[in-house]
Amino acid sequence: MREYLKFYIDGQWVDPVEPKTSDVINPATEEPAGRISMGTAADVNKAVAAARKAFPSWSQTSKAERLEVLKSIQAEYARRQPELGEAIMEEMGAPSSLANGFHVGLGAGHLQTAIEVLEKFEFEQARGAHVLRYEPIGVCGLITPWNWPMNQTCVKVFPALATGCTMILKPPQLASLSAHILAEILDAAGVPAGVFNLVQGSGSVIGTVLSKHEDVDMISFTGSEPVGVQIQKDAADTVKRVGLELGGKSPWIVLDDDQLATNVASATAGMMGNSGQTCSAGSRLLVPNSRMAEAIEAATAAANGVSVGDPRGNFAMGPVVSKGQYNVIQEYIQKGLDEGAQLIAGGLGRPEGLDKGWYVKPTVFVGTNDMVIAREEIFGPVLVIIGYDDADQAVEIANDSPFGLGGYVTGSDVELARSIARRMRTGAIWINNGFDFHAPFGGYKRSGNGREWGDYGFHEYLEIKSMIGF
Ligand code: NAP
Ligand code: MG
Repeated sequence: MREYLKFYIDGQWVDPVEPKTSDVINPATEEPAGRISMGTAADVNKAVAAARKAFPSWSQTSKAERLEVLKSIQAEYARRQPELGEAIMEEMGAPSSLANGFHVGLGAGHLQTAIEVLEKFEFEQARGAHVLRYEPIGVCGLITPWNWPMNQTCVKVFPALATGCTMILKPPQLASLSAHILAEILDAAGVPAGVFNLVQGSGSVIGTVLSKHEDVDMISFTGSEPVGVQIQKDAADTVKRVGLELGGKSPWIVLDDDQLATNVASATAGMMGNSGQTCSAGSRLLVPNSRMAEAIEAATAAANGVSVGDPRGNFAMGPVVSKGQYNVIQEYIQKGLDEGAQLIAGGLGRPEGLDKGWYVKPTVFVGTNDMVIAREEIFGPVLVIIGYDDADQAVEIANDSPFGLGGYVTGSDVELARSIARRMRTGAIWINNGFDFHAPFGGYKRSGNGREWGDYGFHEYLEIKSMIGF
């Protein structure tokens, strides 16, 4: 079992001010995978003081100096990648191939992207009678969720480092092991003391102290809507910038063409990836009413074809992250049954043969957009299929949601896909499964207010200064 009991503050591994620990449970075994310390306000205060002290020199470093540090992190990250994959598998139950593949790969991708953006970034621009200057905002509190631990952490830490900010990372309790390894990577790579600090513990303690702290200039938060709202309130008195990346109920529109069955199958399998614990998952699958029977057949086969089991084995889907999440998902499946949605795959309880570990059946309902299972984020492997009559109605249903994080369109009529993409009220649209590390990511409506990834991810951490008559 891993014992990660020290915090990383001011370039040193230090004991918490008050000793208190908590186990990190492996959701596949329900046994402890590690133990962390639970920090208090005193630990946060030390970390903020270290970040504040480091800011004047780090913020004045040259692009070349920061690029050198990022490249040194890159070498160290590559070396520790297998350990990160193992930790992610243990802490949140991602299948080994996924944990070692996309999970650690996303972190590496954000690091490479930060390097590419920094190389080209113009921190000063002459514009008419003024020079515009981008400057690091200061000391940042980074608060992250457990569902894609390296992705969510790296998409904050590397842009913050690249722009010259200093920071305190508060990782999720459920997935705190990989964050500890990341701190070891930054330490070994020679990030100067105080620039990056790690304090573990509960969000209601560490997160609240960071959000209210007089000496923290900005909070970048990824997680649930209620916590995002609370952070904004806590940060209001000190007029902090708060970047929020919240939940979603993203629509996936399958167009009416000869690829429909294939596209429905891949959307269904995609929904089950990472056990459905992806904020931008296409959890509402919109299919033409005239092709509903075919869509049901394809989705049923795809969901039943998703193998579920031990993350160390060769399965497509592992458990969900915790008993708490398992219970929430079961309640939503029951809710779907109660509100009259048609269950076409999966359902209540664990998959057959799995009686230990928080495994959920890949579940598909056919329902309507007004049902609770179509409006609220379930954050599990549960898909809702909704019928549409024509493209206009598909867009209307897609936009009829409190959220606006992602959207998907698949089909051979690219012009139609583009026109739908233009009309969707979401921060990102993926047409025919495109992918780009430089594309900004963030939400409309209740999905948040920030934009991460690529160059827009830098702007989260930058102040704008006008130098007039320069
Ligand atoms: P969460 O409960 O909101 O927790 C996120 C982080 O906030 C954790 O580190 C948590 O600490 C901390 N926290 C809890 N209460 C806090 C408080 N009062 N003040 C400050 N911080 C606090 O979310 P989650 O359950 O980990 O993650 C699932 C949610 O994240 C879903 O809604 C999902 O859609 C969303 N998400 C969004 C994106 C995106 O980019 N838009 C990406 C991934 C996930 P603890 O460790 O103590 O819980
Ligand atoms: Mg939570």
